[in-house]
Amino acid sequence: MTDHLDFESDLFRTTIQQLDQVAARLNLDDDIHERLRYPRRALVVSVPIRMDSGKTAVFTGYRVHHNTVLGPTKGGLRYAPDVNLGEVTALAMLMSWKCSLMGLPYGGAKGGVRCTPRDLSRTELEHLTRRYTAEIILLIGPDLDIPAPDLGTDEQTMAWMMDTYSMTQGRTVPGVVTGKPLLVGGSAGRREATGRGIVYVLYQAARHLGQEIRGRKVVVQGFGNVGSVAARLLWREGAILAGVADYKGAVWNPNGLDVGELERHVAASGTVVGFPGADVLNNAEILEQPCDILIPAAIGSQIREDNADRIKASIIAEGANGPTTPEADRILKDRGVTVIPDVLANAGGVVVSYFEWVQGLQYYFWRESEITARLQEVMTRAFNRVWALGTKEGVDLRTAALMEGIRRVAEGYKIRGLYP
Ligand code: GLU
Repeated sequence: MTDHLDFESDLFRTTIQQLDQVAARLNLDDDIHERLRYPRRALVVSVPIRMDSGKTAVFTGYRVHHNTVLGPTKGGLRYAPDVNLGEVTALAMLMSWKCSLMGLPYGGAKGGVRCTPRDLSRTELEHLTRRYTAEIILLIGPDLDIPAPDLGTDEQTMAWMMDTYSMTQGRTVPGVVTGKPLLVGGSAGRREATGRGIVYVLYQAARHLGQEIRGRKVVVQGFGNVGSVAARLLWREGAILAGVADYKGAVWNPNGLDVGELERHVAASGTVVGFPGADVLNNAEILEQPCDILIPAAIGSQIREDNADRIKASIIAEGANGPTTPEADRILKDRGVTVIPDVLANAGGVVVSYFEWVQGLQYYFWRESEITARLQEVMTRAFNRVWALGTKEGVDLRTAALMEGIRRVAEGYKIRGLYP
């Protein structure tokens, strides 16, 4: 059906497969199901920039809107070397299910630029971001599509995007992006939101399973904005942080790593590797260490058919988007592992993005305690809804979360009808 478009990518295939399975389970109207399989619009742009060397380099960028049935579109922008149209489209689709599941008035979107941000200077990154923004400017706006940070982008990226957009409008438009620095319209608690949301759903999962967070061994893959915050908060709650990985490798100490010292080590050296008093492992080995809670918060397809049966954790909370392949999902399910899926586990980011957007539109800002309390309420309610649906339908949490997310989007299509 979507074969004639070049969406070729593993994540796209998986995402469509999941949609088809859930559509069958929900008994979705065929016409609506068909519409859900396509993005509303997808833009591919060339992004030429002057490099520090004086030479010009051309990068490829994407922005995809999956659907606009519940409101403007929302989703991150990623800078990564393997970004392609299929992946960005799949991620936009996942944002649709995520926003709908969390009850946010958004459709899903995603953007990407194919590059290795670590190899670019700050000046090159600024040029890249500004030119990319200019190329997709017709697709973004506070009531049209609102980008945010994702893999390889951060608050500074959002500040440049907001500035570029605002310059073309002749006025400052804070609502065009979220995840901005506080001083220029960011929200208190946005940076911590994804990691914090993971902890809130883990609390609920542990409660339903009759467990406690205190004393549990945790392994976190990825020590960026998501992984480091989740690690710190869980450690503060009395969990044992036994292993942490980043792009260079992993450190392991079953007696627990001190998060404060680890953060200082990372600030000084740029990586967790070399942290004193810990064994060095590679990024794959760390996933298989004996622990209770595993948080893959780095990149996609980390838990696969070839390592899923060696994972020891009894709970997995997906900080990254798409870290588990469908084959691995089946193996984990058979083994009784509780997987809290990405659309639920990492939704804290977009929930506080929504709060930031609302604050920006009203020029009225909330205290961090208000943000945190509202985030906890939204995450807890969503988790409990998904858990209850999973139990009622006899399905895993991913299926339940997708059922809930997809059903609401489908209902939106039904209510609005087909134009013209
Ligand atoms: N990139 C994050 C995600 O995948 C946040 C998106 C947003 O805040 O719009 O959910």
